[in-house]
Amino acid sequence: MQNEQESKRLQMVETQIRDRGIKDRRVLEAFRKVPRHLFLDEALRPQAYEDHPLPIGEKQTISQPYIVALMTEALRLTGHEKVLEIGTGSGYQTGILAQMAEQVYSIERIPSLAKRARKLLDDLKYTNVIINIGDGTQGWKEYSPYGGIIVTAAAPEAPDPLLQQLETGGRLVIPIGDEFQQDLVVYVKEGEDRYREENYGGVRFVKLIGKHGWKD
Ligand code: SAM
Repeated sequence: MQNEQESKRLQMVETQIRDRGIKDRRVLEAFRKVPRHLFLDEALRPQAYEDHPLPIGEKQTISQPYIVALMTEALRLTGHEKVLEIGTGSGYQTGILAQMAEQVYSIERIPSLAKRARKLLDDLKYTNVIINIGDGTQGWKEYSPYGGIIVTAAAPEAPDPLLQQLETGGRLVIPIGDEFQQDLVVYVKEGEDRYREENYGGVRFVKLIGKHGWKD
């Protein structure tokens, strides 16, 4: 029998994600599985499947479900990729990626968030996730190149190390703009120092803070 959170989650997938045009079956399936409410403080769990972002502490947010789905679909994952995520936050997007890629590397600059996400992802048995605490604007060269890189915070421009660490054909999904509004941009690596840009429209994210992002 479905519990209440699961039926809210299945409804969220239909009305907020599928009805708005997300078609990738693997994305829809991942959203049906990952228990978003567990990535929130208990007091916020009743709102977990509503159509808006929510606070996760440390002045950070978990994005609106549709935006997480849009960014995930934009990566065009097939299941065989190594994916790098910048901005682990609650770990919810990380869990979605873990369902859809072979291996996920995720970097978070705020230690308390990284530790909480690590514990929850361990409890949920996501064994294909490695989390690091640090400045994700510098990427994670050790495991590069990546088939996909997703940045869940807003940058003034695409950080050069992230472009360099993409494999040919790989996709970097990142909000680009000022601190108040951004466009969701995908950079597709076509060859050595050659990138094609796709624009997925307006979004609003917290700032990416680091060497190749905003200053604190
Ligand atoms: N994807 C997350 C989720 O599902 O909960 C939400 C991420 S939140 C919108 C953005 C995160 O990016 C914050 O946790 C913030 O601390 C982190 N962040 C900002 N700049 C960063 C950087 N240079 N490296 C790593 N993480 C960074």
